[in-house]
Amino acid sequence: MSKVALVTGGTGGIGTAICTRLAANGYKIITTYFEPEEKAKAWAEAQDYDVDLYPCNVSDYNSCVELKEQILRDHGQVDIIVNNAGITRDSKFTRMTPDQWQAVISTNLNSLFNVCHQFVEGMTERGFGRIINISSVNGQKGQAGQTNYSAAKAGVHGFTMALAQEVVRKGVTVNTISPGYIGTEMVMAIREDIRNAIVDQIPVKRLGKPEEIAAVAAFLASDDAAFITGSNISANGGQFMH
Ligand code: NDP
Repeated sequence: MSKVALVTGGTGGIGTAICTRLAANGYKIITTYFEPEEKAKAWAEAQDYDVDLYPCNVSDYNSCVELKEQILRDHGQVDIIVNNAGITRDSKFTRMTPDQWQAVISTNLNSLFNVCHQFVEGMTERGFGRIINISSVNGQKGQAGQTNYSAAKAGVHGFTMALAQEVVRKGVTVNTISPGYIGTEMVMAIREDIRNAIVDQIPVKRLGKPEEIAAVAAFLASDDAAFITGSNISANGGQFMH
């Protein structure tokens, strides 16, 4: 039987590449949508593999409880979680509103608790699980205009290390991927002159490709990565090294 992979925010730029890559590797793909159902269904139809879509707001605990009930009813279990859903609400700190702060913390960080809390016990009971949390280079180095996002993404790796220690003896690994700037809508929405200045700071002189993040996720999901847990894998074109 295929392993079941739940990718949150799978309809987005990096999420689509992760779903596609995991599907190619033989996993059963489940993803969530937050956008209008028609848009998500159109996305699913455009993929050349089977994908099951469920509505879910990852920043809402009860929504994740409903997600769990639906997934367990339809698929019985989840073997791999990729916590990929995320947003930005950029603003200089002095002008940042409480809503901008809360939205980013809830969607990028509270979501890890909300989603993992539903499925970790099943993984430890079965003796296998892979949890892959998508952070960001800006969680590692900080970024002006993103106190909310940098705080949430730094928190992601703290969560990874702590949970990794709790489940390490039960066959479950927990790791972080910290992408640099990837050419998705999130980044293409940045003003062109600012984007060009960003690319100039990346030693490889280009944006990353979603597929390059998906390849890291596929490796971490595989049996070959069983000895890797609590790690933070940077994929940033050399932009930040530590
Ligand atoms: P996209 O905006 O393309 O995709 C984000 C996905 O998250 C969408 O499917 C979106 O759904 C979903 N989502 C947003 N809010 C919620 C919510 N409350 N509940 C459920 N789903 C939600 O972003 P990317 O593909 O660029 O980014 C994916 C991840 O990678 C994010 O965590 C991001 O922070 C991280 N990242 C991205 C980088 C980049 O350069 N692009 C760099 C470093 C990290 P909907 O479309 O319905 O809103």
